[in-house]
Amino acid sequence: MSHDKNLILSENNHSQGIVYLVGAGPGDPGLITVRGQEVISQADVVIYDYLASPRLLAHAEDSAELIYVGKQAGCHSLPQPQINQLIIDKARAGKKVVRLKGGDPFVFGRGGEEAADLSEAGIEFEIIPGVTAGVAAPAYAGIPVTHRDYASDLALITGQEDADRTGPSQIDWSVLGRWKGTLVFYMGVKNLPDISAKLQEHGMDGDTPAGLIRWGTTPQQRTLIGTLATLPDLAVKHQFLPPAIILIGKVIQLREQLEWFEKRPLFGRRIVVTRSRAQASDLVSHLERVGAEVLEFPTIKIEPPEDDEPLRQAAEKLGKYDWVIFTSVNGVDSFFTCLHVKGYDARRFSQSRVCAIGPATALRLREFGIVADLIPQKYVAESILDEISQADSLNNKKILLPRADIARRDLPEGLKNRGAEVDEIQAYRTMMDESPRDDIVRILEEDTIDWITFTSSSTVRNLLQLIELKLLRERKLKIASIGPVTSATIKEAGLKVDVEAREYTITGLVKAICDFEQVKA
Ligand code: SAH
Repeated sequence: MSHDKNLILSENNHSQGIVYLVGAGPGDPGLITVRGQEVISQADVVIYDYLASPRLLAHAEDSAELIYVGKQAGCHSLPQPQINQLIIDKARAGKKVVRLKGGDPFVFGRGGEEAADLSEAGIEFEIIPGVTAGVAAPAYAGIPVTHRDYASDLALITGQEDADRTGPSQIDWSVLGRWKGTLVFYMGVKNLPDISAKLQEHGMDGDTPAGLIRWGTTPQQRTLIGTLATLPDLAVKHQFLPPAIILIGKVIQLREQLEWFEKRPLFGRRIVVTRSRAQASDLVSHLERVGAEVLEFPTIKIEPPEDDEPLRQAAEKLGKYDWVIFTSVNGVDSFFTCLHVKGYDARRFSQSRVCAIGPATALRLREFGIVADLIPQKYVAESILDEISQADSLNNKKILLPRADIARRDLPEGLKNRGAEVDEIQAYRTMMDESPRDDIVRILEEDTIDWITFTSSSTVRNLLQLIELKLLRERKLKIASIGPVTSATIKEAGLKVDVEAREYTITGLVKAICDFEQVKA
């Protein structure tokens, strides 16, 4: 209820603007709160910093103004007073402002100072807490910060008391030196030798388990475990840089049993996805769930047909078709857009049977209220042909085939050879997306990619129009293909297919990569 009230409040006061101080969470973009994501999606302005996952900005409207005021250790790109002023100015201009801060805004985030300035300026604000790195990074390292047997208390401490603060330290090292539970230091990597020395001076045993967790909750997470005495040298040896938290206490022992995130099958692997941005999310989230770091380089973009009259006519006379065959999610989307524009819905299909090439296409049809009559066992066009002719005599049957401009000829030809009358209609166009060229060349030259995934022949062809073949050949990267048709295109281009999905779906593709990596491991 209070949530609705907030919306009403902010709408009423819109002319004055409002500021949301939002915790972005520790890095994994899934760890933002529901309320945080909601206000980002309604924001006019999002002011974000270094530790806020850039992926969260995707929740903002295209029209929202995105302002980076990034702060990295020792390098403040915009000083705090100016950040505060910027927030106030935007709110005074009547904007809904989201101030997006890494972790929790009130845990070493200077959110308290920003809120105080807003209060003094008489600007309405709301604080939306976030998941703080000091708890989340240990959790992703398999370490609970409290535990009935190991730690009954937890202290969050700054490892870098404000350099421009005058006066004595506010940290009572004599208390921390005797601490029995867990200590978490933020911003402490640089001062680790000093922190370790001070705690030991004040009575803590040098053998106390201690660790560093860098970029916790992200695919770049790294964990280094030692003891209070050994950790500073280990950190130098492993060149452990910020941002990282220092964790001290017996709870660290639990990692041995509870480690999970860094053990995922594709953890630490960098994988390129070449699908269109609109379609990539399914593959991206599958890969991320098994621990991969995903780089999206869409090589195709899906656009409506140049002339949508044939599609409209097909929608008009849909009742005449015995079968409608969908060979992609895009085809479904585009066909239903056209139906809806004409004021029609799924009832237009009442006279026809519907075939979907695979489960993803069937699922999208289901979202529009259609349960496919046929999904072939193998998710390729050849299989459609075999199975549809088993299910029905095709002689004199009318078939509608809404698909891509560049689709292969085999399916319509095969249907016609079996006596069917086929209306093949361009439902969408597959265009080359040139935008990622420079980035992909740079990343491939660095040779840090483990896998590149191809989910259709056009992703292969388009990528090879964008970059030179040798950038894929003379590299450590391996190539994963969604199925035999895509594999054939990869091989024709002169490349090797390292794995091919056994089931020609996104799930099948991800499984093939995991199986390969596990056998190797
Ligand atoms: N408000 C933030 C903390 C900001 S201070 C929060 O609640 O998490 C910045 C420090 O947070 C970094 O120096 C580092 O010590 C810690 N930190 C932030 N994100 C981190 C991450 N993903 N992994 C490890 N430490 C992180």
